Amino acid sequence: MLQDAIKTQLKGYLASLVHPIVLEASLDDTPPSREMHELLHEVAALSDRVQVSEQGEATRRPSFVIKQVGAKGAGVSFAAIPMGHEFTSFVLAMLQVGGHAPKFSDDMVTQIRALPGQYDFETYVALSCQNCPDVVQALNAMSVINPNIRNVTIDGALFPDEVTARNIMSVPQVYLNGKLFETGRADAGQILAKLDAEAPKRAAAKLKDIAPFDVLIIGSGPAGASAAIYAARKGVRTGLVAERFGGQMMDTEGIENFISVPETTGPRLSAALEAHVRAYDVDVIPGEVATELFPAVHPGGLHGVALESGAILHARTVIVATGAHWRHLGVPGEEEYRNKGVAYCPHCDGPFYKGKRVAVAGGGNSGVEAAIDLAGIVAHVTLLQRGSHLKADKVLCDKLATLPNVTVLTEALTTRIEGNGRNVTGLTYRGGDGADHHVDLEGVFVQIGLLPNTDWLKDTVERNAFGEIVVNDHGATSVPGVFAAGDATTTPYKQIVIAIGDGAKAALSAFDYLIRVPAPVEKKVPA
Ligand code: FAD
Repeated sequence: MLQDAIKTQLKGYLASLVHPIVLEASLDDTPPSREMHELLHEVAALSDRVQVSEQGEATRRPSFVIKQVGAKGAGVSFAAIPMGHEFTSFVLAMLQVGGHAPKFSDDMVTQIRALPGQYDFETYVALSCQNCPDVVQALNAMSVINPNIRNVTIDGALFPDEVTARNIMSVPQVYLNGKLFETGRADAGQILAKLDAEAPKRAAAKLKDIAPFDVLIIGSGPAGASAAIYAARKGVRTGLVAERFGGQMMDTEGIENFISVPETTGPRLSAALEAHVRAYDVDVIPGEVATELFPAVHPGGLHGVALESGAILHARTVIVATGAHWRHLGVPGEEEYRNKGVAYCPHCDGPFYKGKRVAVAGGGNSGVEAAIDLAGIVAHVTLLQRGSHLKADKVLCDKLATLPNVTVLTEALTTRIEGNGRNVTGLTYRGGDGADHHVDLEGVFVQIGLLPNTDWLKDTVERNAFGEIVVNDHGATSVPGVFAAGDATTTPYKQIVIAIGDGAKAALSAFDYLIRVPAPVEKKVPA
């Protein structure tokens, strides 16, 4: 099952196991069990520190648990053949069970250890879902640190009855002690914050007396990360509010236009970005969201930035790099059936619509790409474009035209998503003839572009009609000392290399401001 290059790499990793591990399988006579059997034995053949036992007693079959040989505890479970996006989760779980500490801060480890309850997580994934490994790896690592936490990763495709019974239409979907806990991507910090109600208070208390920054960057996508590196390289005190490293790149399957890297994935590039930032003297403030900006009273003075935890940070310059998020249709039924037929990530949720009928709302590049992608999985795709023609690149439109199971409707404005109270059953659109038309279907993928994450700035800095922060050619906003970069701004062409360049430019401009504008003696804002 494993290619030779992967085997060689894995052999290297497994050689570093501190403790021997056992892969304890619960199998039956089905083809997936045979596949799991083959994978586990191939892995075990790579290291004398890995054994396979077929004496597992789990009810889900096939499944396996990774345990330390001779140690008590539940171990890390997979009711999945963890290939695709979950292969890294499998390798990490083996290394962590085998004695390599998860890469969490000391504070986080202490917090995980101190969690008081018994937590049984069931995490439903699809192997094609690139948002899923974040949750899986976070929960697995947490279970290695605290034996009262257990996690089993379940491939929905292997357990369709469970998927139907729990009405799962979107992954990752996490159950805790039998109840729905979380849908969608989450990292360990976010999971901890949900499990530990006191966490935000502690985070705020910890940041209470933090010294003002010279440059404070909000957002850790490509623009924010690049700004942080450029600022730190100037030797100034740099802070980075990092809700999620990588930003939109984490939702991106393949990236082929990051100059000098012919081909990579979003999660891989995001990990490289984070490693690069952490190689510098940047004060990374993880898992926090900025909620308000308090501009300095005078040029050169200290700006305040309020965080969701309640803390307020201060800085002489602020770089806003909060990027953008998927735009919603805003029609009746969209919120009600979110994750029950209304989806935004074709790579993640496409497999749940196998053999079903879906619509894609949006005829730009992402809509047409989604339609092409889904056409290979689902029975039929209806692509709805509100304008008179598709706006995607010609090469994509040409490809779309060759697909027999795609219907393109132009001048079709989606007005309502319908359902039966449990799932989506159809969609209504207003056609060019002014009449309402109905399409029976089971899923709607919304692909109508992005909205800047700038609402939190309210009317402090100038924004255009689309909510983008108005910047000049130095990345300066309407507020002296506040700069902005990337997709959150009026900079045209929302791309990774452009965001990275923008971040660098904003940081250099912030440094220029720091050396030219003297700091007045004034009180911090807010008072
Ligand atoms: P983002 O990547 O959006 O990052 C912003 C960060 O700020 C996020 O981590 C967010 O969580 C955080 N944030 C938001 N609000 C707050 C707040 N209030 N407080 C703290 N943090 C906050 N570009 C390419 O060049 N090539 C591609 O192949 C490509 N494919 C794409 C595919 C998809 C599906 C998508 C969605 C985008 C793609 N793009 C691609 C575009 C590219 O990802 C973006 O242009 C780029 O990520 C923008 O970077 P950014 O740092 O400005 O913003």
